[in-house]
Amino acid sequence: MSEFVQKSKEVLQQELTSKSVEIVQVNVGLRCNQQCRHCHVSASPQRDEIMTWSTMERILAITQEIQPKQVDITGGAPELNVHFKKLVVALKKQGHAVQVRTNLSVFFEPGMAGLPEFYAKHNIQLVASMPCYLEENVTAQRGPGVYRKSVDAIKLLNALGYGRNAEQVLNLVYNPGGPSLPPDQKNLEKDYKRELKERFEIDFSNLITITNMPIGKFLTTLQKTEKEQEYWSLLKNAFNPLTLENLMCRNQISIAWDGTMYDCDFNYALNLPVNHGAPNHIKDFDLAQLKNREIVIADHCFGCTAGCGSSCAGAIA
Ligand code: SF4
Ligand code: SF4
Repeated sequence: MSEFVQKSKEVLQQELTSKSVEIVQVNVGLRCNQQCRHCHVSASPQRDEIMTWSTMERILAITQEIQPKQVDITGGAPELNVHFKKLVVALKKQGHAVQVRTNLSVFFEPGMAGLPEFYAKHNIQLVASMPCYLEENVTAQRGPGVYRKSVDAIKLLNALGYGRNAEQVLNLVYNPGGPSLPPDQKNLEKDYKRELKERFEIDFSNLITITNMPIGKFLTTLQKTEKEQEYWSLLKNAFNPLTLENLMCRNQISIAWDGTMYDCDFNYALNLPVNHGAPNHIKDFDLAQLKNREIVIADHCFGCTAGCGSSCAGAIA
């Protein structure tokens, strides 16, 4: 039994199970115009795993049935899927709240003109990675030129009201540059707001802090720098039992580009589909079973329970 399985059982006095399906996260493909150092799904311009329209049609039937609080679209750079806009429009037609995880720099890729206006027209909530307000730190994680493009993209969004009007949400995501836990989310948000305003006159809604998972490219970096054991100890020693109640996997499912279902995007990256008897592909979708499924957990889950906790929506506790 993994250490995390043991720990969560000790605290909860039972297996970790889901409570509902309030968020449906859809990963529409692994192609990305960037190849960031910390990318847990190892997306890049070379990846050709892309969700087809027929899989999207099945997802539209599922979202109709679930009526989730939010459909959260991610990738790769989701905008690089040729069916992306069609999916967004169809979800909005069904009446869903839709969030897109954009990397911002994609706004300047060929064929992407008008993307900010598309988002504004369809009232899409946006989440974008911005791991620091300092250029050198962003460049180290996300590659040369990405910082400036991100700032320019935020300017375009601000001009349309994003990050300035309460109903046009543009959230930024911070993750540490190395093997440490994120600082306090609210304090860091104040620093980001001040610095980005002073430097570029740009605004955003909320800052989300996310702990780096010891998987994918980040794990490779830890191994190369001989920091892996140190990082595992940091996560395990900072285990916070209060985070278990609100782990994101307890209220969501994550659907991969090929229709396989996971408890979260991290389990997707580790190829750990939904298990313990619940169906793990959208072709066998069964809401009743998914609502009360046992979640697939292992030691990487310490990344979600360290300190204030971590989820796709930021700190937990
Ligand atoms: S922008 Fe996002 S999806 Fe693309 S490589 Fe970076 S972290 Fe991965
Ligand atoms: S990694 Fe996924 S399954 Fe594990 S605790 Fe975090 S959200 Fe839940």
